[in-house]
Formats: sequence, C-alpha cells, structure tokens
Amino acid sequence: MVESRTWPTRRVPLNPPSLQDVAAAIHSGLQSNFSTSHASVAVPPDLRHAPFHLAGPGLSGNPRVADVGGTANLRSSPNLDKKYDLLAISKLMDMPQEGGLLIGAGAGPFFVLGVNTELMPNIAWGSVSGGQVSNCTHYAKVLEDKQVQCQRIGETTGFGLMCNLLGCDGQTGPLIHVTAKGRKGKSNFTEAIQKAIGEVYGEKLISLGGVFVIRSGKVKMHVMPDFPGEPFKEPGDVDRWLRFYDMQAPIVCLSVLHAGRDGDLNLRMEHTHCFGADGPDAGQKGGHYHFDLDETMDLVEYEGWFNVADVLYRIDPTDS
Ligand code: ZN
Repeated sequence: MVESRTWPTRRVPLNPPSLQDVAAAIHSGLQSNFSTSHASVAVPPDLRHAPFHLAGPGLSGNPRVADVGGTANLRSSPNLDKKYDLLAISKLMDMPQEGGLLIGAGAGPFFVLGVNTELMPNIAWGSVSGGQVSNCTHYAKVLEDKQVQCQRIGETTGFGLMCNLLGCDGQTGPLIHVTAKGRKGKSNFTEAIQKAIGEVYGEKLISLGGVFVIRSGKVKMHVMPDFPGEPFKEPGDVDRWLRFYDMQAPIVCLSVLHAGRDGDLNLRMEHTHCFGADGPDAGQKGGHYHFDLDETMDLVEYEGWFNVADVLYRIDPTDS
C-alpha cells in the first residue's frame, strides 16, 4: 500500500488552440520529416482494442497533463522517498473520482516490485471501466541475462521518482489523428510533432498526450536497470547505466509532449514509454522511446491519437 500523502501542486491553465488548429499545424509540419503523413481531427475506434490497448475507450473529456517529480529524483542518488500513486495523483489533478483515465510514462514502483523499472501507466476507473479499476499498466525491467521483460503490473497503482501523464474522462470523442510513414528527416515522431506545433505557435506552451502505435520498423529504446550501488558522479554516468535496445515493431507507445516554452515549470518536454502487446515477442518489448532506426526509416509507420490539454499540473517539482 502506498502511503497516502499530498504533494506540492501547481495548476497552470493553458488556454490551448482548437484541436483543428493544432491538427493543421501538425499536418503541415510533418510533411518535411515523413514521406507520407496526415493529421486531422477524427473520432477514434474503441482504443481498448488492438493495436492500442488502452484501459479506456477514448481520450476525451477534460484533457489535462501532469509532470510529477523529475529526473533529479534519480541523481545523484535515487530519492527513495519519492513513492507516488496514480490514483492519489489523479486527485491532485482535480480528476473526477466517478470515472477517469490516466496514461503516460514514468518510473515503476520500486517499493512494490523490489527493483527499478520503466512504467507505462494505463489505468481507468469508475464509469470508464464498469465501476472497477482497470489497470492495464505495463512495466519493463532488465533481467539478469540483460534481456527485457515487459508485462502487466497487476493491481498496484504505485510509481516512483517521476512520471508524465495525460488524464481525461476516458470518453470517446474527437482527437487529433496522426499518421506518418517513411521517415526522410532527422526527427523522431514526437520531435516532429513538437517542431510542427512550435513552427506555428512559437513560444506558447501547448501540451499534448496520447497513444501511438509503431506498426513497422525498428526503434531504439532504453530500460533502466535496478538502481546502481553508488551515486552517479558525472553526467555521462546515467547513460552508461541505462541499457539500450533495438526493438522490432509492432509496439504501443504512451506519450506526453509539450511545445513552446515552459518558463519556470521545469517540465520534461517529451516522455514516451512503449510496451509490446501483439505478437509472440510482446513480453520482451518495452521501455523508453528514443527514435526509429535509420536502417528502417523507409518503412517505419506510425499511427497515433492525441488530445490537447486544457490545464497542466506540476506536481512535486524538482529543481533541475
Ligand atoms: Zn522514460
């Protein structure tokens, strides 16, 4: 059981442009990075089904994002006081307890699993999931033989250290539908979206969250192993500690990203975690998304559904 405590929380209204206007910006900006791409507003199919595997049917209704903790909780030594809970955080995000959905990218509940892991929060409650908590959260960990194992987390709603979340009422409704196939530029999928929005809106802070599937191609991922025995001393130590993998599509990705300037909020501007859900090797795929590999850039294929947040919550902020 995660201790119930409150964390300092700052609420920031965002006053975003319309979905149509953000979709138009993405549509225009992606053209230079992908051979074929499209972005428009549409109503998704039931996102609980393959290939997306969300805990709720949609990503609509009072969209909001949260940035909880931060990577500073990992350096120079992990701050093991940073034990969070998704349902407790949903309250700090002013989400209705009658029904809601949270998805995103964070660090696993080391205090439950006994090791440090990558977390793909994906949880619905209340009216969204028949009155039950539907916990489709996955976690990925490094096994002793350095292979990756990715699986459903079970009942715990805990997480540690840091997390980036999209919260909403979990309803079916209009979203930004983005497809891209064949990469010709240098940006990965999420960078391309950030740049596309930034080209139109400049410094205005615009925050998105959603789900995308990589249908074909290979992606560079990392998975955090268990905490190191001694503190990180220099900047490169974290990268040397992380384990990097090339993983084959299909893979599902949960993403929170921001364009514009974050001022003094000290946001993580992009955070995307992925899990295998379909195919025989699904249980060996998952982690933190970096980019699709150049060797598959001609055939890489992305499809995503995103919402634009009305409000942002900076919870238990770190200094750096
Ligand atoms: Zn990550």
